[in-house]
Amino acid sequence: MLKDLEGAEGLGEGWDLGEASRRDFLKLMGFSLGAAALASCTPIPERQAVPPLTLADGAPLPGVETWYATTCGGCGAGCGLLAKTRDGRPIKIEGNPSSPVSGGATCAVGQAAVLSLYDDQRLKGPLLHGRPASWAEVDAYVAPRLEAIAARGGLALLTGTLHGPSTRKLIADFLARHPGARQAVWEPVSLAATREANRRSFGRAVVPGYRFDRARVVVGLEADFLGTWLSPVEIARAWARSRRPESGGPLPRHYQIESGMSLTGGKADRRLAVLPSELGLAALALVRRVARRAGEAAPDAPDPAVDPRILDAVADDLWNHRGESLVVSGVNDLAVQTVVNRLSFLLGNVGHTIDLGRPSQQNQGDEIAVAELIAAMERGEVQGLLLWGVNPLYDHPEAARIARALENVPLKVSFAERLDETTALADVVAPDHHFLESWGDAEPVEGCFGLRQPAIAPLFDTRAAPMSLLRWMGEEQPDAYRHLREHWQRELFPRRFPHQTRWASFDDFWDHSLQDGVCEIAPPEPEPEPGPAPAHDAGDLTAAAAAIVAAHQESRGQKGYEVLLYEKVGMRDGRHANNPWLQELPDPVSRVAWGNQIDLSPRMAAELGLEEGDVVKLRHGATTLELPVRFQLGQPHGMVAVALGYGRTRAGKVADGVGANAFPLVAVRDGFHRNWAAGARLEKTGYSETLAAVQRHSS
Ligand code: SF4
Repeated sequence: MLKDLEGAEGLGEGWDLGEASRRDFLKLMGFSLGAAALASCTPIPERQAVPPLTLADGAPLPGVETWYATTCGGCGAGCGLLAKTRDGRPIKIEGNPSSPVSGGATCAVGQAAVLSLYDDQRLKGPLLHGRPASWAEVDAYVAPRLEAIAARGGLALLTGTLHGPSTRKLIADFLARHPGARQAVWEPVSLAATREANRRSFGRAVVPGYRFDRARVVVGLEADFLGTWLSPVEIARAWARSRRPESGGPLPRHYQIESGMSLTGGKADRRLAVLPSELGLAALALVRRVARRAGEAAPDAPDPAVDPRILDAVADDLWNHRGESLVVSGVNDLAVQTVVNRLSFLLGNVGHTIDLGRPSQQNQGDEIAVAELIAAMERGEVQGLLLWGVNPLYDHPEAARIARALENVPLKVSFAERLDETTALADVVAPDHHFLESWGDAEPVEGCFGLRQPAIAPLFDTRAAPMSLLRWMGEEQPDAYRHLREHWQRELFPRRFPHQTRWASFDDFWDHSLQDGVCEIAPPEPEPEPGPAPAHDAGDLTAAAAAIVAAHQESRGQKGYEVLLYEKVGMRDGRHANNPWLQELPDPVSRVAWGNQIDLSPRMAAELGLEEGDVVKLRHGATTLELPVRFQLGQPHGMVAVALGYGRTRAGKVADGVGANAFPLVAVRDGFHRNWAAGARLEKTGYSETLAAVQRHSS
């Protein structure tokens, strides 16, 4: 990488790349503590922010570290963190042991978040029509236009998952001022089919709490729950707790049925490799076997191409652990999730290892609502669009269509922290703070709350997105701390107060919660979901089985290979791609850093005459990805796997041009975004490149 930078702009004279240190490299990539030096002279509101270990009053003592409890903003999982600051600057992140979600652990993305704070490619202030502007100019431009839109309708918010209770209330208030306004939540890797299947099966459109800690047998169906799926830190911690050999009894067993080789699959007691198009058949094979043991009928369907005796053994193990087994699936397909629900129901797991009473709120992506919003933009019905925590022009499979639809929207406002692929088209950019500079809250799991407090004053002239909304709602001097505190006093404390004796007053409760960074408050009784009554009847299963078999036949009928799209543990969906620590982190499975590659089985590579590092063109429809190949054991013949999160074009110096963007390969089925596609072709290019990979065993 350094070699590529020879002659790069900004590389002063006298740089010898051969001797450049890691620190030089980061500086060159736009990461430095220059801005932080100024910010650290500006005390954060100490009277309000509460470090757990108060080592210094007022200004930080030189060299003395202070820890602030906060909540991670790296993804929707909402892990509790402790941010270590020295000389007023956050320098290290650790997990918050008090967090009921993460219990003192973090993932690589959370750890690396401290570096992204110092990314020089974050916006330094607001932009109006692409030019730097003052906040007063931005407000004078946006507020009257929003008011005009409120009068005639046509406002929309496209946000990522925002589960903070004060933020959700603010959005509800904001939408209420704009008749007909809507919010659509976009997540590039979605669990929308799981929620919809649960609505149909159990009457609650939620992702349930999966109680890995109670499970004696776990079956993972294309769910990398230790690496990337849903809330990996939380799940890994719960799973590790129940797998302690010192507990004496037999260890819980884990079967993984998957296409690509995942971190979770590598840890499984037994792993079955199937093609992506066979994942639904695998779920059907299990439900049929379990139904037989339960004396229930189940539709007939072909088994996937694996030894049926293994499927029998898995079904036996599940059946023998009724009520303490758990089947989870990361396949965003309504039919597959319906089958998994039937399996959970037959096994008596609902209410035990499937906790619908304490659901996860960590991924609220709803691609069907986003599709409706895109269609409304195309029809010219959207007059104003606020983009918050999303970048669909990079990570939506129909990015080009969205770009065209955006041309019909007269007012486009983005809260992005950088001029990313989508924000480049915005009329107004009102950059949000980094989460380490912010006040805020989170409710990743119903009833589990996290608080976010700043560990440093804002480095740049940014403004918290909720404060921008409040400003445009007419508040003259919105105050993030006051807004947060008042919400907790008004809405949350009354729910907690009658059931506790620990705190005499709200002030007491608030100070302790802020210091701990977390607190638990029982959720209110769930509202009954609108729509059809919950159904566990065989009709659902029959329709789901028919859909799965049809999808399988359709895929097998297509010439070419199946493509699985997955997330790497460090890069995930690519939103933090400009973080050099994450680019540099070798993937624990492929061992590859700095880019994605086409994974295929050694047998397939031999048939195609490919060596590792050979660059091939992967063609699917109108999409072509040009990437080197890499051999992956444990992957079935007839498929390739490509990681998402690469191929950014407007993330910054670190990420731009690294790897290829695989999001255009995401398939849309029944409105849900599916992470595999069939009918891809591979073409040799005749050249090769060296993969940036750490050595494997025995190499
Ligand atoms: S799982 Fe998400 S919230 Fe938790 S530490 Fe990692 S990035 Fe942060």
